[in-house]
Amino acid sequence: MSANKRTAEYVSACLLGGAVGDALGAPVEFMSLAQIQKQFGPEGISDYAAAYGRKGAITDDTQMSLFTAEGLVLSHVRGKPSDTAQIPLFVYQAYLRWLSTQQMQPSDTLLRQHGSCVMVDGILITRKELCSRRAPGNSCLSALQSGRMGSMADPVNNSKGCGGVMRIAPVGYFMKAESVFDTACEIAAITHGHPTGYLAAGCLAQIICEISYGKDIHSATGKSMEILKTKSHHEECLQAIRNALETIETEPVSFASVEKLGKGWIAEEALAIGLYCALAAREDFEKAVCLAVNHSGDSDSTGAIAGNIMGAMYGKEVLPEKYLRELELRDLIREMASDLSERMPKQ
Ligand SMILES: [Mg+2]
Repeated sequence: MSANKRTAEYVSACLLGGAVGDALGAPVEFMSLAQIQKQFGPEGISDYAAAYGRKGAITDDTQMSLFTAEGLVLSHVRGKPSDTAQIPLFVYQAYLRWLSTQQMQPSDTLLRQHGSCVMVDGILITRKELCSRRAPGNSCLSALQSGRMGSMADPVNNSKGCGGVMRIAPVGYFMKAESVFDTACEIAAITHGHPTGYLAAGCLAQIICEISYGKDIHSATGKSMEILKTKSHHEECLQAIRNALETIETEPVSFASVEKLGKGWIAEEALAIGLYCALAAREDFEKAVCLAVNHSGDSDSTGAIAGNIMGAMYGKEVLPEKYLRELELRDLIREMASDLSERMPKQ
């Protein structure tokens, strides 16, 4: 077994890698592959293009990953570190603060509903740059606006959009391996009530976790599938992962192979595409994220997932400077990763 990757540097690489994939995919999120190739050439997009008024702009995927991390950290600062059952509540409260940055409701409504201690906490709510709508997912918005915290036992909707899985990577580091899958599912179920919507999140968090303990991506995926098979309604998610693994074995690495895995708007497809691209690219980070964003679907979310896995696996050395240099909120992402790593169990 190779080196333990539960270090501040790897946590940072995982979160930055996700943000880079997100930012690269942002300008092409709503374009078909043909449209992307028409605008950027046959190789597709491989450098940042302007989105939301700048190059290197992050989107809701990175915003929500940061709030996931903040909720995890605050569960230790405000709560009892040994009580893992309380963690989803702290993350829910962090997501409510994210909701307030989206300016969908007057902030005094949220203050009245949830209390000032919930709405004024952490560091993210103080950052004006986060008060920006970057094509937030409807399930996340409507679930959080409902005022009710969704859970696996009491689903808030029947959504299996990719909004649960695209924000979940920080959970892979925050607790011991045996608690990661279920906690990630519970956190995804805050906004996504369909089993596939939260099981895909459980899988990605477990993959990140297994990688952090020294497994390669294939073995980490195998372990994640083993746990997945023990859960109710796992078939759809399992099939999507199998499709990704089979495509690696049987098809040439190409945009066409990615297109066959789906569009990534739904959770199991986003996971399959992100995983496929990380596996197909081996140690080449740029190849992984370029493959993950050049398709006819949710390019920023699949880019974020591929980037998370690549950063977790190979560390900061593989993150190209050309992407880091112009990445929005790069320092805040590093700061949050550092906070998270100080509180993660090292063994
Ligand atoms: Mg997005």
